[in-house]
This record gives sequence, structure tokens and C-alpha cells, in this order.
Amino acid sequence: KPLIFSGVQPTGNLHLGNYLGAIRKFVALQETNECIYCVVDLHSLTAQLVHDDLEGQTRSITAAFLASGIDPKKHIVFNQARVLQHAELAWIFNCVARIGWMNRMTQFKDKAGKDRENASLGLLAYPSLMAADILVYRATHVPVGDDQKQHLELTRDIAQKFNNDFSSRIADLGIGVEMQVGEETVNGYFPITEPIIGGPAARIMSLRDGSKKMSKSDPSDLSRINLTDDADTISKKIRKAKTDPAPLPSELEGLKERPEAENLVGIYAGLADMTKEEVLRQFSGQQFSVFKPALADLAVEKLAPIAGEMRRLMADPGHIDAVLRDGGDRARVIAEKTMKDVRNIIGLLGD
Ligand code: ATP
Ligand code: MG
Repeated sequence: KPLIFSGVQPTGNLHLGNYLGAIRKFVALQETNECIYCVVDLHSLTAQLVHDDLEGQTRSITAAFLASGIDPKKHIVFNQARVLQHAELAWIFNCVARIGWMNRMTQFKDKAGKDRENASLGLLAYPSLMAADILVYRATHVPVGDDQKQHLELTRDIAQKFNNDFSSRIADLGIGVEMQVGEETVNGYFPITEPIIGGPAARIMSLRDGSKKMSKSDPSDLSRINLTDDADTISKKIRKAKTDPAPLPSELEGLKERPEAENLVGIYAGLADMTKEEVLRQFSGQQFSVFKPALADLAVEKLAPIAGEMRRLMADPGHIDAVLRDGGDRARVIAEKTMKDVRNIIGLLGD
């Protein structure tokens, strides 16, 4: 039976990339699946240890989940630090994963920059904790933006190596499940998780630079549209978004080598639930002086209700904390069941 898990870091203002690449998918998936959505506060320490208001950031991401339509009664919404089993499993995965695997991660290279020796050890080990977040629930599917693809491949590698290294223990204890790995059917403990990536908005780029993804941690606020921006700010940022002078083409082919134009078309498509082809059919031959205002109107129409609901929720932090506490309590039950098995498999005396 599928189980969905995903997480968002409390590292700053949520933006359109987070919304279209991740949160909108969270909302759609909850209709037919069991879902666990987590504010991954431990992850937020990897790039920057000291935050101005980590509690407020964590509540704000939670408010965005709820305002976007995630139902915390039917599903589980909580923050990572409440469920200690994430950190426990991450340690074990640090010993499963190889340093070489971590060194190859492009997010590590990007975020560590030139002075790699001076990056935190946590930044290098980030994918281990992410694998633990997912596998402590033995989740089968993870909706994420395109930038997380490599980390999910690593999660699969970790699960496979664990299943393989402990195969006889898993068999002895009789707690494995049959699963398909490529052509083979194997008996393993952890599922080989499938990513859910795709659609026109899997990778929204910075509004200032079509070669960089839109990020919470980008120092330029003009590079992104925040979920909480007001109508004037959204219009201004779209007006100032980098583009080229050519009109919009009629075919996708015509967007090749025009990353900024393609990005705006992708944003429109994501917001309107259309394909990029459909957007081009509608705006073919139009100048950005026409397309940009249409995009701004659409963004305001879709985002304003979420921003309003977030403000309403943020006025009652006690309610948000109660949601996180309740979600954490329910998550912990599942996570501890997994950790009992894992301690048994490895031979760590637990109880
Ligand atoms: P940071 O810069 O701190 O890493 P972020 O914007 O990358 O922040 P995360 O919390 O790391 O946000 O990611 C949350 C989710 O949003 C992930 O599923 C990620 O893949 C997705 N996501 C992030 N940026 C984009 C983007 N530009 N386009 C589409 N999806 C994105
Ligand atoms: Mg990120």
C-alpha cells in the first residue's frame, strides 16, 4: 500500500517553486493516499546553524501546508525534531552510506561553495538524514522538485545496501517483504522508494537568472515570488523578471535556449494546471508586455487566498503547535516500530 512522505525546510520564505514543485503535489496526493508531511527543522541547521526565529519559521511552513489545503487530521503533519527516531536512523545510515556517495551530491557542492573544508559535516551528511526521514516510515513515494532527484537515488542506494548487508538477519527475523528491484525479486526490510517528480513546474528557476533554481536561501528577494507577497510585490517581481525581447513562440521548440522565457511559461502552466504547450497555444506571438501582466494576475489569484489563510493561522501559534504535537505523536508510533525492527536487525540491544 503506498505511503507518501515529503519534507520542507524552515529556511526562509516559501516561494512559488516550493509551492508548485512540492506543496501542490502534497495536496493532490492526499486525496487517495496516506501522507506524512514534515517540516524538516533538523535539516535547516546544515547550511546555517543559528537562525533568527526558527520556531516562527517552522510554524510558518506548517501554516503554509494547512493554508494550501493539507488536512492534518486525515494525514500527519509534524516537525522532524519531535521524532527522535529520524536522527537515530540517520546515524545508522551514516554508517551505511559511503563518503564518496555524499561527495558526489550536487546540492552539497552548490551549498558548500568553494570552501568545502569549512562546510558543516551535517551539510555533507544531509542525504543520510533525508533517507532516514523517508525510510523511518518505510514510505514508498516521495513528491519533490527536480533538485531532489539525486538525493532520492541515494535514498534508494542506502535502502538497497542495508537490505543487502543485513539480508540474512532480515530473513532470520522473518520481517522482510518481497520487493521488485529491477528484474529481481528480493526480500528486504526497507522499500525502494519512488520519487514523484514532473509536470511543467518541477524546477522553477530564479526570476533573475534562468540558470539558477528559485530558492528560499537566495539573497535576492527579487529572484523569487514568496507565498506571502502581496499583489503589488508579485506584479513588480514579474515585471522585473529577466526575459528576452522576442515574442512567445507557438511551439515548445521555440523556447530552447530561452531559459527565462521557458521558466515564466512553466510558472503559468503550473499555476493554471495546463501544459506548457497549452500556454504557448494561448499566448503564441504575444509580447512579454502582454504575457507578464496575465501571469501576474494569475499568480495573485492563486496565491492571495493562501497568504490570507496563512496570516489567519499565524495569529494563533498555539493551534499550529497543537497540530505539530499531535502529528508528532502519531508519527513517533510508526517510527518507533521501524526502529525496534532496525535495532533487532543490527543487533543493538534496545529494550
Ligand atoms: P533552500 O534554498 O534552503 O534549500 P529550497 O527553496 O530549496 O530552500 P527546500 O525546503 O529545500 O526549499 O525544498 C522543499 C521542496 O521544494 C523540495 O521538494 C524541493 O525539491 C522543492 N523545490 C525547491 N525549490 C524548487 C524549485 N525552484 N522548483 C521546484 N521545486 C522546488
Ligand atoms: Mg533545497
